[in-house]
Amino acid sequence: MNIKKFQDPKLIKKIVEKLKRNKRQISLMEVCGSHTMAIGKWGIRDLLPDNIKLISGPGCPVCVTPMSIIDSVIDLKDVTIAIFGDLMRVPGERGSLELARAKGLDVRIVYSPLDALKLAQEKETVFVGIGFETTIPGIAYTIKEAYKNNITNYSVLTSLKVVPPALELLASADDINLNGFILPGHVSVVTGSNAYNFLPEKYNIGGVVTGFEPADILVSVDRLIQQVENNDAKIENEYSRIVTPEGNKHTQEIMKEVLEIDDGIWRGIGEIPKSELKIRKKYSDYDAAKKYNINIEYKEDKSGCRCGDVLKGNIIPPECHLFGKSCTPSNPIGPCMVSSEGSCAAYYKYERKQ
Ligand code: SF4
Repeated sequence: MNIKKFQDPKLIKKIVEKLKRNKRQISLMEVCGSHTMAIGKWGIRDLLPDNIKLISGPGCPVCVTPMSIIDSVIDLKDVTIAIFGDLMRVPGERGSLELARAKGLDVRIVYSPLDALKLAQEKETVFVGIGFETTIPGIAYTIKEAYKNNITNYSVLTSLKVVPPALELLASADDINLNGFILPGHVSVVTGSNAYNFLPEKYNIGGVVTGFEPADILVSVDRLIQQVENNDAKIENEYSRIVTPEGNKHTQEIMKEVLEIDDGIWRGIGEIPKSELKIRKKYSDYDAAKKYNINIEYKEDKSGCRCGDVLKGNIIPPECHLFGKSCTPSNPIGPCMVSSEGSCAAYYKYERKQ
């Protein structure tokens, strides 16, 4: 696949000229941290006319991981804590894991869930398994492997979120006026584009599963505008070079075997019904929440951080009074400034002038 054709300046100019002919006010939301970064990196907002707004939604898994997970992990004793690197500097109520590591907590960064399972060969290991559908199958697989091989000193503290219920929350909200969703590319590889059919059917709002190159994003914006103009809300798949309607059955089966749906707590947002995958009873020996009696609860962020409003599309990051002042990537107050997929980090890196 020659990705360069999706970066072709002539093609991009042609789509932008077409988009400029649209005179309607349009608000579209992307719900994938990689899209947030791509929009910033390619300067997509600068290319679009003022009447087309791109708003970032809850697309960053680190940003929606409950604060109580960080606080609970800090309290764990005599175990190795395995985490993805993005989580290291996310503030909990009592500081970050980076700070706890400086005080002696054994925190290790892993690049794949299987690395966490390997750490269990040395010492009792708790993997802080966070993510959306893209990451969840790999985490579920380690639990299955640990069970199969009777590895008893491995467990996972989960915050495994599924995207469609968060979209449903946004689509049903009275205070968010959206004309469509730029749907996640990576997540949809697993779920398939059919997972979003409820959006037009139930809420008369459309979406386009989208790739990560500039032409991908602009084509999706154009398709969503056409849906609005024709009053024809539907789910389209711009990223059909990777995503199928049904998704990846194999990874779906691994998830189904190990995990089951439950209500989930999203940092900055609250509880979203049926939005989280929890470890099934059969595998409960690998559930760190049960093993260490950890209670995951919602905690209000008292720092003044407005990540919740950013994640719900109520404000854009520069509208937070801490943005770029007391909150910067080197001194993050909230998770949206820490994560490589966070909206505040993306705005800080690419769009600070605004
Ligand atoms: S700029 Fe910082 S404090 Fe403000 S919402 Fe973003 S992460 Fe939170």
